[in-house]
Amino acid sequence: MREIRKVAVLGAGTMGARIAAHMANAAIPSVLLDIVPKETTPEEQARGLTTADPRVRNRFAQAGLDGTLKSRPAAFFVNESARLVTVGNFDDHLGLVKDCDWIIEAVTEDRAIKQALLKRLEGLRAPGAIVSSNTSGIAIGGIAAGFSEDFRRHWLGTHFFNPPRYMKLLEVIPTGDTLPEVTQAVSNFGEVLLGKGIVLAKDTPNFIANRIGTFVTLDVFRIMQRDGYSIEEIDALTGPAMGLPKSATFRTLDLVGLDVLAHVVENLRQSLPSDERRELFEAPPFVTAMLERKLLGDKTGQGFYKKVKAAPGTESEIQTLDLATFEYRPRQKPRLDSLDMLRNVEDAGQRVAQLMEAPDRAGDFYRHTLSDTFHYAANRIPEIADDVGAVDDAMKWGFNWERGPFELWDSVGVEKIVRSWEKEQRPVPVLVDRLLTSGQKTFYRREQGTTNYFDLGTAAYRSRAERPGVILLDSLKAQGREVRKNPGASLIDLGDGVLCLEFHSKMNSIGADTVAMIHAGLKALNENFDAMVIGNQASNFCVGANLMLLLVAIQEGEWDDVHLAVRQFQGANMALKYAPKPVVAAPFGLTLGGGTEICLHSARVRAAAETYMGLVEFGVGLIPAGGGTKEMLLRAMDMLPTDPEADPFTYLKDVFETIGLAEVSSSAQEAYKLGYLGARDSITMNRDRLIADAKQVALDMVKLGYRPGSPREDILVLGQPAFAKMKLGLHLMRRGEYISDYDVEVGTELARVLSGGGEFTSAQRVSEQYLLDLERESFVRLCGQRKTVERMQFMLKKGKPLRN
Ligand code: NAD
Repeated sequence: MREIRKVAVLGAGTMGARIAAHMANAAIPSVLLDIVPKETTPEEQARGLTTADPRVRNRFAQAGLDGTLKSRPAAFFVNESARLVTVGNFDDHLGLVKDCDWIIEAVTEDRAIKQALLKRLEGLRAPGAIVSSNTSGIAIGGIAAGFSEDFRRHWLGTHFFNPPRYMKLLEVIPTGDTLPEVTQAVSNFGEVLLGKGIVLAKDTPNFIANRIGTFVTLDVFRIMQRDGYSIEEIDALTGPAMGLPKSATFRTLDLVGLDVLAHVVENLRQSLPSDERRELFEAPPFVTAMLERKLLGDKTGQGFYKKVKAAPGTESEIQTLDLATFEYRPRQKPRLDSLDMLRNVEDAGQRVAQLMEAPDRAGDFYRHTLSDTFHYAANRIPEIADDVGAVDDAMKWGFNWERGPFELWDSVGVEKIVRSWEKEQRPVPVLVDRLLTSGQKTFYRREQGTTNYFDLGTAAYRSRAERPGVILLDSLKAQGREVRKNPGASLIDLGDGVLCLEFHSKMNSIGADTVAMIHAGLKALNENFDAMVIGNQASNFCVGANLMLLLVAIQEGEWDDVHLAVRQFQGANMALKYAPKPVVAAPFGLTLGGGTEICLHSARVRAAAETYMGLVEFGVGLIPAGGGTKEMLLRAMDMLPTDPEADPFTYLKDVFETIGLAEVSSSAQEAYKLGYLGARDSITMNRDRLIADAKQVALDMVKLGYRPGSPREDILVLGQPAFAKMKLGLHLMRRGEYISDYDVEVGTELARVLSGGGEFTSAQRVSEQYLLDLERESFVRLCGQRKTVERMQFMLKKGKPLRN
């Protein structure tokens, strides 16, 4: 098999350009091609360009790349990676595919267009190069019918979801001709290098996620119209309450575009003449009417919802489409009592199970729609996928469902739903019949930490193939590998001499339990293990210190406690830093405040690509005092060049700004630029693999002979001249009204610590402990300020910083 080192992406539209961007995120160079424009634009003519000019000929591909650089959420981890994308056009540059190991077709959804373009590749691609289509609905096997054997053997579907950087699902669709090693190579590359969740799908119309997702949408339309639910009610019912994203049904459609839905529906209608629910695969009249009126959603500025300004200068409000008159009306808050009552049931499965019991309109809705969804999904096995896990994964990864349909069904009770069908005389799907007649009650069964699923073929439970390179902490716990536990954290034996320190407090905030477990972990590391990984598998690595606890201590005037808590956290971080054996932190998602400080004090960091790191203390009127300020200063000063002409203040200024602006990285790659990650740290693209990768890094460090450092006594601080410059900077920012008076106060505390305490008249060398003491004093001083308390209260209430 050729190793995938370079790719070509054909088509630089919404998907193609973003796929190329994500390849660049994975450090894979690509060629991004699109059609040649037929004529020049007036703007090109004004510049004297003709259709022979490459700037005109490459215009579409270049525009695709430029658009991607501006897209929000960002498609690139860092925009500099765009240099890995070479733009061109199909007429002049198709020959460039000869050096590409994987060619991804992402042109207009039209079979003839795709085939014509792919045909041109036959003589150009290197033998053995993989070719795939990103089509959402055209039969993969059909596109390559009549192509050469080498082509067909290396041909398959690779269906990315939009936006490809963020949506985890990659449906991989081999045909009967695809070589198994090709499917394997693409799946492996997609999982490890692109960080995707791979679902193997069969070559059936719209594959898995869109088939089920479209069914659900159309069924919701039907029930809405039949039973008279409003748009607002449907969005309340089909959002987080049911374990679906906040954008629910109609906001999602506005984002995606109603024309896209209509296209998929039409494709399904034509290609599924014998589907048992074919009557649903037809756009309802209100959709047709909306298409005629160009109410397509965000792309035409109006869809099911519309942002309107009552009068110039007033705030805009969101209005809702009235499906009877196609006029917009003020939004109505839905009244669905059981939704309000059950909102706080945290587990999505339990919540949905209870909602299905609710005696009101909400309950009716769930009883109808979920019963239909379960029925339809069960009938699709083995048509679209061999196992229930593929369907559940596809819905979770492609549409951000919290639970897949079979997982939800297990929570609701399989038999209960089947009994309700008996009354309606609905035929029981084969899968469900087999399950129940073999005496089983659930699609999934957990045994000793592994999840088994009920397999239709063998009518028995099979373990889902453990994905190599994935460690599941919950499974290890179920196997009795949890060495120690308190309410905030645990120690888990990862095997091979590696210990894992796992946080599991609410939002993984740091409290006394966490700090105690850091010490317990270090003790266990010392006595029984070779290395330690700090990682977890919650939604976020760590949101920083537990502000609530801190606020209570402040309000009760427990200053000694505040001092002690900070000192203990500093002590824990220093102990991590100088542990005699390697400590590897494995951050992902939000890694804020104390979470970043823990990473800064670990011997190595293995970060997930999507890591949002930052010392954000400033936002709550504080400075980082768990060693974060000290560590950023130390690292900056260690980078000083030996050139005596170099101005060390420029290095200090960067740290001052990063902490003062509470900068949070938008990716792990950006965290390097901000100084939160260092040259020895590294990145894992797929979060699922993070713990296993961090463990491997730790084992490598053990093998190569780890030598801990010792506390530093030689950190350069620049003294009063630097303090004065930073204060001047604050003053200018204040004058320009960029910051508030209180920002100046907090900034002055930060400047004091960074300059070495404000007392040295010139540059000096100081110890780490000296800086930690300064950090702590400033921190506690700020805790005593009313405006800091207000900032903390606001953050706890609203989840965002207050500028006071
Ligand atoms: P798009 O319309 O944004 O881009 C299509 C590109 O094809 C354009 O850059 C266009 O210049 C080019 N093109 C137009 N006519 C052509 C021709 N005759 N020959 C060659 N190229 C031509 O479309 P998109 O949304 O990027 O979709 C591309 C593919 O990906 C489609 O097959 C679509 O079904 C699939 N897809 C789209 C999404 C999505 O959300 N947009 C998601 C998954 C899959």
